[in-house]
Amino acid sequence: CLCAKYSGIVEDCCCDYETVDRLNEELLHPSLQELVKTAFFRYFKAKLWCDCPFWPDDGMCRLRDCSVCECPDSEFPESFKMPHSQEDPICQEGKPQAAVDRTIDSKSFRGWTEADNPWTYDDETDNSEMTYVNLQLNPERYTGYTGPSARRIWDAIYSENCPKYPSEELCHEEKILYKLISGLHSSISIHIAADYLLDEAINSWGQNLSLMYDRVLSYPDRVRNLYFTFLFVLRAVTKAADYLEYAEYDTGNPNEDLKTQSLMRQLLFNPKLQAACPVPFDEAKLWKGQRGPELKQQIQKQFRNISALMDCVGCEKCRLWGKLQVLGLGTALKILFSVDGQEHSAQNLQRNEVIALMNLLNRLSESVRFVHEMGPSVERIMEGQ
Ligand code: FAD
Repeated sequence: CLCAKYSGIVEDCCCDYETVDRLNEELLHPSLQELVKTAFFRYFKAKLWCDCPFWPDDGMCRLRDCSVCECPDSEFPESFKMPHSQEDPICQEGKPQAAVDRTIDSKSFRGWTEADNPWTYDDETDNSEMTYVNLQLNPERYTGYTGPSARRIWDAIYSENCPKYPSEELCHEEKILYKLISGLHSSISIHIAADYLLDEAINSWGQNLSLMYDRVLSYPDRVRNLYFTFLFVLRAVTKAADYLEYAEYDTGNPNEDLKTQSLMRQLLFNPKLQAACPVPFDEAKLWKGQRGPELKQQIQKQFRNISALMDCVGCEKCRLWGKLQVLGLGTALKILFSVDGQEHSAQNLQRNEVIALMNLLNRLSESVRFVHEMGPSVERIMEGQ
């Protein structure tokens, strides 16, 4: 039974599995699902070219289910765009790229800083290469991206930048980096399994439970790492609560913007969450001892490399979600381990970082929910065979 396998406190965290599942079910998942649909949170700015700094393009970018639908101008909230309009074209995967107004930036980023994030490689300031994507129209799911190209990315991440443990030489901080990446990897695999192309001939999509079992459920440490990553990101969000509450969520539609702010408050200051899991992860325990500062620099460099590797992902949609989620993790790291000991580095968050952070939390919340709801029956079926 899954509940017996995953009981007690989530390793290195301060809440138990049962509480996480309950809070996710009752509170986090419903609010996050609403939040990511709002105009502020559904548009993500990204550079989507294959621009790998480590090896040449491997020609995987042409897969149909991999392509990302960019947002046409007319789709943006009024305050994001230049004053001209078009009919609303339907944005679909595989359709020719829509024209993108690259001048919207100065408007949409009003009230937000352009502070650097030392944990990530992304340079979001070169607008000529940036595009906006409606995340709701480009769900993270099976894309057909597999084989040596995908394997090379994961191998480079694990072997060069975030070695697997157990290894006696690894210290607590290095294990945490590994667990964050492994938890994210579990979540990506769960989304692939949850929305899989079952029959290409009739374009039929659905759940692939054996894939979910083979890639995640049959490895309890991968499930544990997923819960860990969820709590880590949740801690970052709650730590930045005072800032996130009053951030600039203006999209030019006062009703929608009020809704965004109210959903954020529901998430950030929920009494149930504060009572049951006040500090999901205790970041104060890290970077202690003599090696602390040096270790922080080393792990920061490794994480920046992982972030740069996202430009090598040879499938546009996977790259989009890879970039978003790695930026989300980088934002959580920035909030929790603020630069040069400044307590309030959260005040230097960029708009894109906040969008990435909350969308990542939503993805992790979906994965935790999927594992909690489907896990026991999938295990029974697969292990009964
Ligand atoms: P992979 O998932 O490629 O795993 C490679 C190896 O890593 C495994 O053999 C195992 O040793 C190890 N491993 C696997 N899971 C974990 C874990 N949780 N923790 C620790 N180690 C682990 N494909 C899509 O269809 N849709 C997507 O949206 C998508 N997004 C991607 C985003 C990124 C950033 C990358 C790099 C790939 C993405 N892919 C996506 C591809 C997908 O992740 C797999 O690589 C692909 O489906 C092939 O899977 P696989 O069975 O070879 O194992």
